[in-house]
Amino acid sequence: MSASSGPEVVVWDTTYACPLRCSHCYSESGRRAPRQLSHEDMLRVADALITLNPRVVALSGGEPLVVKGIFEVAGRLSRAGVKTAVYTSGWVMEPWMATGLATVFDEVIVSLDGATAQVHDRIRGRRGAFDRALSALTLLDGVARERRHQKRSPLWFGIDCVVIRSNFPQLEEFCTAIAPRFPELRTLTFNAAVPEGLASRPEFGRFELLDDEQVADLTSEHRRARLQELAPAGVRVFTTDNQNLVMRPDRFASGVDTLVMQIEPDGDVRALPVYEGTVGNILQESPLDLWYRGVSRLRDPFVVETLSAVRTMQDWAEAVRRMDYHFGSQEVRSRIERRSVRTNPPEFTALAL
Ligand code: SF4
Repeated sequence: MSASSGPEVVVWDTTYACPLRCSHCYSESGRRAPRQLSHEDMLRVADALITLNPRVVALSGGEPLVVKGIFEVAGRLSRAGVKTAVYTSGWVMEPWMATGLATVFDEVIVSLDGATAQVHDRIRGRRGAFDRALSALTLLDGVARERRHQKRSPLWFGIDCVVIRSNFPQLEEFCTAIAPRFPELRTLTFNAAVPEGLASRPEFGRFELLDDEQVADLTSEHRRARLQELAPAGVRVFTTDNQNLVMRPDRFASGVDTLVMQIEPDGDVRALPVYEGTVGNILQESPLDLWYRGVSRLRDPFVVETLSAVRTMQDWAEAVRRMDYHFGSQEVRSRIERRSVRTNPPEFTALAL
C-alpha cells in the first residue's frame, strides 16, 4: 500500500472521557472535555472511514467502552469488511460487554502497565485499576473459552503494556505470573512509551521514558526470545520501539513505516499521528483529501528539519514538544502550558493513591 491509496491503519480516539489518570496518557484523557460526537455522527465517521478501505480501524480514547453505541459503530465497520480493534483499560468492563466485544471486534486489547497492583495502579493513577483490568481479562477469557467450545468464531484478545522505567523490571513477570492466568490469551505486546501528550513532558522524559539502552534491550531479538520462552505456549510475544511513529520523512518516503491516520473524538483529523495539529474534519471534507493533506505535512520544511534529526528517545520527545507547539491551536498551546504547571512536582512521582 502506498501513501496515495490511503491509510493502512486508522486510530480513532472516540472520546477523551476516561476513568483513569495515567501518567503517560497520550491524549490527556479524563483531564479535558470529551469532545465526543453524537451517535449519528459517529456512524457518519464510520461510513467515511469505510470509503478509505483501511486494513484496520482501532477504536481507542479515552475509554471507548464508555461511549454509548460503540458496538453499533464497530459493527458498521465490520459489516463493511473493515477489521476492527478496541483498546480498553477494562475499568468499566461488564459481562455483557465482554460478550458483545466478541461479536463485533476482531481484536480486543486490554492495557496493563504493571505485573503488580502497586506498579500498575501508580502508573494508571487510580487504586483498583489492576484488579479491574484483571477482572476484564477474566471475563474475556471466559467468553473466548465458551466460543471455542461452541465452535463459534474466536474472540481474539491480548494484553498491551506501555513500557516505561517503572515497569521495565517487570517484563518477565508479565509472562510468568500474568499471562498464565488467562489460558485463551493470544498476545502480549510490550510497546516502548511514545513521548506523546503527557509523556512528552520534560519531567516524564527524565524519570520515566526508557533510555536508549533500555529501548535497544527491549527490542533485541535476545530479549523478545527470552520473553517468548517464559510465556505460555499459546501466547505470542511482541516488542516494539514504536520508531515508526516518529514519521521521519526519509523513512516514510522509503515505505518502511505503516501509514496511520489518527482521528480526534470530534472528527478532526491529525496531520500526523502522535503530533498535535489537524487538517480538517472528516464530517465536513473528503477523507482522502484529508489524508493527502496530512501526508503533505511531511514535506513542510519545519517538519523535515525537526523530524529528520530524531535519533534518540530524548530527541523524539524534544521534537514532539516543538511540533505540538508549532502546529497546535491556541487551545492546544494553553493546554500544554497548563500541563507544565500542573505537573510540578511531577504527578508520576507524587501520586497519592
Ligand atoms: S492512557 Fe488510556 S486509560 Fe490511561 S488516562 Fe489515557 S486514555 Fe485513560
